[in-house]
Amino acid sequence: MPAFLPRLVVASSNPGKLRELRSLLGGFAAEIIPQSALGIEGAAETAASFEGNALLKARHAAGQAGGPALADDSGLEVDALGGRPGVHSARYAGEEASDADNNALLLRELRGHPEPRRARYRAVIAFVRERDDPAPVIAAGSWEGRIALLPRGSGGFGYDPLFVPDGGTATAAELSLEVKNRISHRAMALGALLMRLGVS
Ligand code: IMP
Repeated sequence: MPAFLPRLVVASSNPGKLRELRSLLGGFAAEIIPQSALGIEGAAETAASFEGNALLKARHAAGQAGGPALADDSGLEVDALGGRPGVHSARYAGEEASDADNNALLLRELRGHPEPRRARYRAVIAFVRERDDPAPVIAAGSWEGRIALLPRGSGGFGYDPLFVPDGGTATAAELSLEVKNRISHRAMALGALLMRLGVS
């Protein structure tokens, strides 16, 4: 089947996210280009919701690239922390925080909280054909689980070493890319988005 689009710009510079999106996007676009490869700086994520940030990132990339763009805004919500880190997941421990810094802060904040420490990943993916596309396509997905007492595994990215998806005991960082991409919040959101576009 020919690709739905000749070229798609992905508005992210997170290598873990890009790896997953590239694999999930399969035959959607003949060429998938991270915005950084075009010298496009990430947009300031000023919205208060995943939806708002996904849309502003997609519009920004489409405007700069002059063509279709897709953006994922995602994060981890922990019940015992009232939904934090939420939209601030990437910068939880500070602007320049590494994944390890964020994970360490999460464990510190959860110290003393009884198990299971319920949590979920959320992802919202926005697709626009051009910057001012009046009908952006937006889809959401979530992945339920709990926060482990200690990090385990070396796959995935972000909070994956601490996130134990429901239905098993492995952390998301102990799952293969193939398995994660069948069940994750990002996979659910992208599946819904492609269906809405009539691609799958
Ligand atoms: P964004 O780039 O503003 O959407 O930030 C997303 C942040 O949420 C990432 O930097 C991670 O900290 C976290 N996150 C989102 N999805 C995942 C995932 O699949 N695994 C681990 N962490 C994730």
